[in-house]
Amino acid sequence: MNIQQYIDTTLQPYILKDWGEQRDTSVLTAPYDGRTLAHIPRMSKADVDQAITAAAQAKEAMAALPAHQRGDILDRLVSLLEQKQDIAAALICAETAKPIRTAKEEVARTIQTYRFAAHAAYNQRGETLPMDAAPNGVGRIGLTMREPLGIIGAITPFNFPLNLVAHKIGPAIASGNTVILKPASQTPLSAYFLGQLLTEAGLPAGAFHIVTGSGKTIGDALVTDDRVQMITFTGSAEVGKEIRAKAGLKKVTLELGSNSALIVDKQIDPHAIAKRCAIGAFTFQGQVCISLQRIYVHEDLYDEFVAAFINASKSLVTGDPTHDETDISALISENDAARVHTWINDALEAGATLGCGGHRDGAIIEPTVLLHVPKETRISCDEVFGPVVLINRIASLEEGVTHVNDSRYGLQAGIYTNDIHHALNAAKKLHVGGVMINDIPTYRVDHMPYGGVKESGTGREGITYAIEEMTELKLVVFNQL
Ligand code: NAD
Repeated sequence: MNIQQYIDTTLQPYILKDWGEQRDTSVLTAPYDGRTLAHIPRMSKADVDQAITAAAQAKEAMAALPAHQRGDILDRLVSLLEQKQDIAAALICAETAKPIRTAKEEVARTIQTYRFAAHAAYNQRGETLPMDAAPNGVGRIGLTMREPLGIIGAITPFNFPLNLVAHKIGPAIASGNTVILKPASQTPLSAYFLGQLLTEAGLPAGAFHIVTGSGKTIGDALVTDDRVQMITFTGSAEVGKEIRAKAGLKKVTLELGSNSALIVDKQIDPHAIAKRCAIGAFTFQGQVCISLQRIYVHEDLYDEFVAAFINASKSLVTGDPTHDETDISALISENDAARVHTWINDALEAGATLGCGGHRDGAIIEPTVLLHVPKETRISCDEVFGPVVLINRIASLEEGVTHVNDSRYGLQAGIYTNDIHHALNAAKKLHVGGVMINDIPTYRVDHMPYGGVKESGTGREGITYAIEEMTELKLVVFNQL
């Protein structure tokens, strides 16, 4: 699909008209082939200030919008996205080099996410409290209700530019908030596309704004403005910590990085799980927050698992992201690919052995399997965010649990086992936000609670959980005179 014409027509009403040609823009290029995709406004702190002022004017009207209207807007957004799935996928594919099949999966998930948000809008509820459980509560009725916070600043990463935005915009609209979105500088197109659909879906003017430009400048302006009640951030731990330090008393949720791990227990058939594990490690070039980065395999089946995994990895097709058969394409930038390549070479120098891959061609890194990787290497300790996985040998479940937990991150972990006691043991002892039993840590559906511990963040997403974060609980007590 030729998206160029679509980009022009999509962006005209949204940014270029109001922006004006004389204002500052930056060139957006495609990571796969470097072609120019669009000229994106490089906004200033003053532009963010304007967006916040407009959101402040709109927030009371948005809070007063009845639930059926908020749900209807989200339902209409779902229909529009369904009609324009191919365009949405083509935009994601162009700006991120996400292989088109994976981009289409992201769009399908985004539709689900907004559908869950619409349901949540129609079904938001509070509770009645047993006030008379305390002697001085007798004769009173207590009710709780949830009120929107007001203005939510949403700061998002490049890797799921439509669905991770949906995890913020969906619950924010469902609960009656206004939003200012700061998309990743690499992925403004899908954000502007969403903005246009939201307008078509009937979102009241002023309730949604997009600010594009430098994360440091305009992200910072959002984070430090007292009129913004909450920052919902998804991105790296480094930026998350910076935001946390500057946000003052406003609410902050942080969905950060990970170096997610899997334990493969004895008595598992390696051939039955190898392909799924390779998908977990290499989908979207490993640029997924719950990418499978570390695999700890019981010594009884280590060699067989490694052979099956390498086989599955070698069957992946590398190339142009617009081709249907492509599994792996370019990383988000050549700089990132160079960094990942350095980490691979450092691990090899430190004593790891190469199972397969290891080569770099510009921004493309072959799916890479490293074996017997020493603990102190960056591939082992940090988040690689590239198509690299380590497979190490363990002698027991306990050893596996110790390795998985020996990380500054704790987003999700997985275990394949046939032993119910091992499964329960792992579920209890793994220090992460979610444990997947008989699946990879990369598993996610969009209504489940999702978030991490340690440096993987604070707070939870998954529509209804995000709504809790984006609303204030209010108590009302009736005294029966
Ligand atoms: P990033 O941290 O570089 O950027 C994320 C966003 O923050 C971007 O919009 C960026 O412009 C903005 N930003 C940068 N500096 C800022 C500052 N000083 N103040 C405010 N905003 C600023 O992340 P990325 O490279 O886009 O995405 C990759 C990271 O995101 C990985 O670490 C990945 O694990 C993480 N991630 C986490 C989840 C999750 O749900 N836990 C999901 C996807 C990605």
